[in-house]
Amino acid sequence: MNAFTQIEQQKLTPKQALTLLQEGNQRFLTRQPADRNYSSQVEATSGGQFPFACVLGCIDSRVPSEIVFDQGIGDIFNVRIAGNFVNTDILGSMEFACQVAGSKLILVLGHTACGAIKGACDHVELGNLTDMLKNFDSVLEGVSYAGDRSSKNKEFVDMVTHKNVEATIAKIKSDSPVLKSLYDNGTIDIVGAIYDVASGEVNFL
Ligand SMILES: [Zn+2]
Repeated sequence: MNAFTQIEQQKLTPKQALTLLQEGNQRFLTRQPADRNYSSQVEATSGGQFPFACVLGCIDSRVPSEIVFDQGIGDIFNVRIAGNFVNTDILGSMEFACQVAGSKLILVLGHTACGAIKGACDHVELGNLTDMLKNFDSVLEGVSYAGDRSSKNKEFVDMVTHKNVEATIAKIKSDSPVLKSLYDNGTIDIVGAIYDVASGEVNFL
């Protein structure tokens, strides 16, 4: 099983790309990984890459996109940053993935028990983290919750995690005219999901 050729990639619809990720997570959950040979995949992709999706995930070591979606070399773009938010550089990378390299889907993948989200909830201050966590200020403000708003409260952390995925999708559309145009004309879809670090399951929003 090798990555798609350019023709195969171009024939895919955004919905089919989403199904490929959903099926991959099912294979991961049921311990039935696709039969793949990395050496063969290196050879097959040596002349170019035609990944079907671009996954924006967290740096969390428990959420490696290729593994939890059972994908191989050349299958997906894998963008990772603590707390899976976007900035100019990441939007540029996504524009390359979709506009230049032909990917059909952007998946924003949050996850449970995210350290970045927890740090944002607790307003942690540490070196460059202090500035990085400011990226979540508007997300925190957007979650109305009267109870304990600290990382000790799983319910609140889950709400912020969910809101952060939604806010990231909104920001992709508002800050990247290139991706918004591809989305509006149906060339790509932009979808959110939350990975459960306890079960290995990806719950699509
Ligand atoms: Zn995380």
